[in-house]
Amino acid sequence: MKTIKRTVEFRPNSRNLFFHILTSCNLSCRHCYINRDQHGTKTLGIETIKRWLRLFSISEGSKAIKGVEDTNVVFLGGEPTLNPALPEAIKEAKSLGYGSITIDTNGYLFNDFLKKVSPDDLDYISFSLDGSRPEINNSIRGKGSFETCVKGIKRAKELGFTISSIFTTSRINIEDLTNMPPLLKDLGVTRFFIQVIGIRGKPAKEGEASLQIPWELWNNVVPQVAKEAAALGLICHYPKVYLEPEEVFECAGVVAENFFVFPNGRVYTCPLCEDYPVHSYEIRDGVLIKRPPITEADLYPLRIPEGCVMNKILHPGNIPYDHNGNVIKRVACCMLKEEISPISSKK
Ligand code: SF4
Ligand code: SF4
Repeated sequence: MKTIKRTVEFRPNSRNLFFHILTSCNLSCRHCYINRDQHGTKTLGIETIKRWLRLFSISEGSKAIKGVEDTNVVFLGGEPTLNPALPEAIKEAKSLGYGSITIDTNGYLFNDFLKKVSPDDLDYISFSLDGSRPEINNSIRGKGSFETCVKGIKRAKELGFTISSIFTTSRINIEDLTNMPPLLKDLGVTRFFIQVIGIRGKPAKEGEASLQIPWELWNNVVPQVAKEAAALGLICHYPKVYLEPEEVFECAGVVAENFFVFPNGRVYTCPLCEDYPVHSYEIRDGVLIKRPPITEADLYPLRIPEGCVMNKILHPGNIPYDHNGNVIKRVACCMLKEEISPISSKK
């Protein structure tokens, strides 16, 4: 099957709401980015979820939000199906007219989740699998997690849901990445998101920077596996990481609208900042408030040779310099993705 590659530009009229409806989880993955010191431990009740969904769906709710039909909502956690309010939250998002609705799950599908929603309610159920075999996946995500997740995918597929899958790549599992496309194809997955491990949350706290992958290894493996996935009929996304010399640097915090909402009311617009109290907005008493300086948003306009300012501040070791101190490769925004898809796929 022929495939086509493109960089998915930030679309000016598109917004993404990453709505963490709780932070608790039954698993304890090695790369988990949830930071309860910063994001709280609350499980949001249905009334709060509804109020917050409305906040991001009407023009009066926030000067930043223009139209709900262009807003994609992703419910996540923690494990979102642990929150019994999730099915009603999905139906509320649907009735408010959100552009698309996705849940990111570890596959345990608690609270009889699949019995309480239908494929018409949800655009995607996105399952996290970090290995093609239990030995690999479970060494990262915990005992039994592979088996449970695969069972969850099969069950959801049988019921007619559209399935995507997320693989967080680290030194532990990069060699197994090539085995994922055939597995996902067999399971009936349609979209495959390859992520790179981020040094935030647990890896940052526990000094697991050694899980990071050198660029050469990433570049040798990931684009090739993405092509193989697309050749099998999957649409595959992976982070751009570095820009080519002719490519223009853009910060999603400036040119796009992404809101990372946490149960303690913090709203970030850059995911790299989530370990620090520099969030752009806060939901206080049901109102979305822009916070005064200094926040993450005050740093986005800084133009530096390295590209992404937050990488320069938080992960300077990821920026390659020559012996004169000149930047060899600029770091792309972490929200910028490459997409490889079968030529015949409809978008
Ligand atoms: S399933 Fe997700 S939220 Fe739960 S521990 Fe793993 S990465 Fe964290
Ligand atoms: S990752 Fe860098 S470029 Fe992207 S939103 Fe954050 S600061 Fe901006």
